[in-house]
Amino acid sequence: MAKLFKNYINGKWKASASGGTFENVNPANQSEVLGRFQKSNKKDVNEAIAAAEEALPQWRATPAPKRGEILFKVAELLLQQKESLAQDMTREMGKIISETRGDVQEAIDLTYYTAGEGRRLLGETVPSELKNKFCMSVRMPVGIVSAITPWNFPIAIPSWKLVPALVCGNTVVIKPATDTPLSVVNFVKVCEQAGLPPGVLNLVTGSGSDVGTPMTEHEKVNLVSFTGSTDTGAVIASSCARNMKQYSLEMGGKNAIIVMDDADLELAVEGVIFGAFGTTGQRCTACSRVIVHKKIAKKFTEMLVARTKTLKLGDGLKPKTDVGPLVNESQRTKVDNYVQIGTNEGAKLLTGGKYATGKDCKNGSFYQPTIFADVAPKMRIAQEEIFGPVASVIRVKDYDEALAVANDTEFGLSSGICTTSLKYASHFKANAEAGMVMVNLPTAGVDYHVPFGGRKGSSYGSREQGRYAAEFYTTVKTAYTAP
Ligand code: NDP
Repeated sequence: MAKLFKNYINGKWKASASGGTFENVNPANQSEVLGRFQKSNKKDVNEAIAAAEEALPQWRATPAPKRGEILFKVAELLLQQKESLAQDMTREMGKIISETRGDVQEAIDLTYYTAGEGRRLLGETVPSELKNKFCMSVRMPVGIVSAITPWNFPIAIPSWKLVPALVCGNTVVIKPATDTPLSVVNFVKVCEQAGLPPGVLNLVTGSGSDVGTPMTEHEKVNLVSFTGSTDTGAVIASSCARNMKQYSLEMGGKNAIIVMDDADLELAVEGVIFGAFGTTGQRCTACSRVIVHKKIAKKFTEMLVARTKTLKLGDGLKPKTDVGPLVNESQRTKVDNYVQIGTNEGAKLLTGGKYATGKDCKNGSFYQPTIFADVAPKMRIAQEEIFGPVASVIRVKDYDEALAVANDTEFGLSSGICTTSLKYASHFKANAEAGMVMVNLPTAGVDYHVPFGGRKGSSYGSREQGRYAAEFYTTVKTAYTAP
């Protein structure tokens, strides 16, 4: 029988009150069960939040540089264990080993950077209006944090939430996605080894409705940090608004790359390939719309299709694999449904569009990298987040039309342009309606020490990463003193 993994509450690994478990399956080889995890419920959540409440006074009283020292140790342990963490992650959710190593590396870099915030939680001192009155602001912990994370960056995204929350003096309960509990169990074990005191970080596995909902509704929770779909984000937003909690939401995207007629086409092809098919298209920053100037549309599309056909599908642990499976069967069905929708809408299927069933793919949730041409900007495949290896080529007559099409979406996470023109690049950086703008780069691929996040339906609340994270996980107190 597959190995049993438990919740982590108040410094102890313990079974759920429900007595139930669920299985975690390798999407590249569905007969491999990686483990059984706790099917937790509201009782477990209440226990974890009680532990976080009990640990809070001592943790918030620990000097921030000392909290940072424990987190530096977390970074060192992540570095030591990087390869095994990456291998577990590939087996758990399918992305290729070079990408899962990158996922862990992002957590390492972010943790080193953010642990240093323990010495940089800056406030202000300002002159007062009154004589002999001293006026300052300081940053204080917010309290108890609920962190709810998705499956596509199973260690990086938890690190974006946990590390800043902890260095700022908050205590945390985390719920990983049902598809990736193992990576978060591994991360929490590292935090335990680093010496994080009991109750400061608690882990509860289980479904969104049984665990996520009570984590967002509990009266003792002060802040909810969520990454996932826009639909779930809307549910969490209304719950937090009703209960006066602070919250931030990182959600979906429908990111575009514009390819102008003066672009370096080989560079543009590589950017689109990485953006559209990296992580099998399951990134919030994936490039799913390719907006191409009519003068180079034919040549560029031929180059893109030819390059797409060279991609090798298979188990992400094999070094020659370029594209792994989708995370599960329901994601594969969703992608296939969108391919049917695109075909019915009149888009032209140039390559892909089917389940991949070759010898390296027969046991997993593989889907052929897919490209549509003749896509109109208002088609559903050009408007809705597919979250799979599907790119839509949209032909435009000039830069103005390209920009209008790029911005014509309910999302606003990342947006890119390939051009050698400073004029277009500068105008695009100023006018793209997105939180992140890329020139001659893929829409995905970000640095951890600058803000991450978007506009419109992609994000709500504070940016993650960089110094913005420390601002979100603290509350400002203004203090006046007179002699
Ligand atoms: P979901 O919204 O389905 O799930 C995200 C997390 O929320 C999971 O842990 C899920 O649990 C949990 N959840 C589900 N329902 C509720 C609820 N009612 N209350 C509280 N928690 C709930 O998204 P996916 O996991 O499918 O992730 C993919 C999505 O995430 C994509 O849309 C993608 O764009 C977005 N994303 C955004 C990023 C960004 O930074 N902008 C980065 C990465 C992904 P369970 O797994 O048990 O259902």
